[in-house]
Amino acid sequence: MATSRNSPFVQDKERGMIDKDLREGLEEIVGKEHVSTSPMDLQAYAFVQGTGADIIGTKPADVIVLPQNALEVSKVVKLANQYQVPIVPRGAGTNSCGMNVAHKGGIVVDMSRVCNEMYVDEENMVVVADAGCSVYWIMRELDKKGLRFPFMPLYTAGPQIGSGVSCNITGNYMTRYGSMGDNVVGLDVVMPTGEMITFGPGAIKGGWGHYQRYVGGPDLMGLFINASGTMGIVTKVAVRIKPAPEAEDVLCFGWRREQAKELTEAMYWLQRRFVYDFFLINRWNYHSAEGEGRLSIPEDVHFIAMISIDSPSKKELELERSRVVTIVEQYQGIDLGELGKLTMGPPYYRIWLSVSKWMQRIEATYFWCPVKKFPEVYDIWEETCRKYNFWDGEHCPAWFSFHGRNTCNPYPLLANANPTDPDELSRLKEWWKELNVALCAAGCVQYDLGDSFPDQNYEVLGPQWDLARQIKRFLDPNGIMNPSRTYGG
Ligand SMILES: Cc1cc2nc3c(=O)[nH]c(=O)nc-3n(C[C@H](O)[C@H](O)[C@H](O)COP(=O)(O)OP(=O)(O)OC[C@H]3O[C@@H](n4cnc5c(N)ncnc54)[C@H](O)[C@@H]3O)c2cc1C
Repeated sequence: MATSRNSPFVQDKERGMIDKDLREGLEEIVGKEHVSTSPMDLQAYAFVQGTGADIIGTKPADVIVLPQNALEVSKVVKLANQYQVPIVPRGAGTNSCGMNVAHKGGIVVDMSRVCNEMYVDEENMVVVADAGCSVYWIMRELDKKGLRFPFMPLYTAGPQIGSGVSCNITGNYMTRYGSMGDNVVGLDVVMPTGEMITFGPGAIKGGWGHYQRYVGGPDLMGLFINASGTMGIVTKVAVRIKPAPEAEDVLCFGWRREQAKELTEAMYWLQRRFVYDFFLINRWNYHSAEGEGRLSIPEDVHFIAMISIDSPSKKELELERSRVVTIVEQYQGIDLGELGKLTMGPPYYRIWLSVSKWMQRIEATYFWCPVKKFPEVYDIWEETCRKYNFWDGEHCPAWFSFHGRNTCNPYPLLANANPTDPDELSRLKEWWKELNVALCAAGCVQYDLGDSFPDQNYEVLGPQWDLARQIKRFLDPNGIMNPSRTYGG
């Protein structure tokens, strides 16, 4: 059978298991070519990058739909309510918390086509974009005007701005400006019942658009930030922007494994000034590049810190540089020269020069901890990796930590270095659980509303978790919006 030229699907559709009337209803809303039940498409949409199928187990959806605008999204959600079928919004599918797949089957709503409008409102210093627009594309458009998001996410073309809200994305300059959630000033959302709501002053007809988040009572926008698509489908986002600095640089310093305390002191004192971005990785990030002889890092260096600085002028930048160097030297950091620029120089990142050849097989977990707790958290990571024989460059492709003001956001990765070895896979599963449990027990909190370990993540949160559940039930009486395991199904 021929495939329509406008259809994103690789195969023509085969009648799947979903209710015939539901399928026809979906086709009526988005057009036949934007609905698929083909097994190949369903399988493709079950893919999770990172915390993969290996660990949490994935199940294909029953049907994929690609609406083009908020109204179509709303109609799809209403239909899902009518049939009481779960519905999972999906961006580029790159998030590693496992909430972008249909664990309970149902409808996956691919938001890629909801990208009809993107404009830069320089008067209010806000960019407004449909949820399906690529974050990277928006960053490039801003760059042409000498503008930026305050924080700079570190990935390439796929990830979308709507899911960026849902995952509260982080990036370079987070130390100073926070994450996506800290910079959102307006949202359009399709609620779990299909109702469309604009949040913030953008809702006011004939008003001045999006310029302020906190209006008219409690912060309702916050319900959708970091909510992993459980509270509604974001269809439009307004985010603060800022001018690109006149002068900027990335400095790079190393510390030995046994110097975690000195490194922590350096992080602490640099962050107290609130003027830097501090991004921490370990040497295994460069494992492949080193192996291929593309670069060399002093043998005893284990931790590598990228410190971004900026300034209104080159002269003032020199002053910033000397301030950073003074603090780093006080805590025995080793100058690694240009490595930082090779890795994450502005205006776009060039990060992960090379991580591991097994990058596609990574398992990731994200946490928050107070900055001073860094040595303890890193020890837990090393101990669990050693216990399961993973403490080497092949299995640990990278360990990242973004830094918010007084916090570290550890993001350890472990690779399945031999994906066909069942023993390795089972060790990986055990390691992953042990690491997550140990980090929670040490007082860390999980970053994402992940699907992988709802018990550990939320039992510890007690009444806050209960309240979130109650709000979810109120907004989503049929329990269909990305039910997953997080809210007990
Ligand atoms: C190599 C690599 C680098 C990365 N770097 C970064 C980084 O620098 N910073 C960072 O924060 N993350 C990073 N990530 C993680 C990931 O890319 C981000 O979380 C990204 O924002 C996910 O976007 P996505 O479009 O792929 O969303 P998906 O993975 O498709 O979806 C993520 C979640 O959002 C929900 N969702 C999707 N669209 C909507 C919508 N419109 N409304 C409501 N909910 C929705 C989904 O249901 C799911 O729960 C990286 C990942 C990789 C693989």
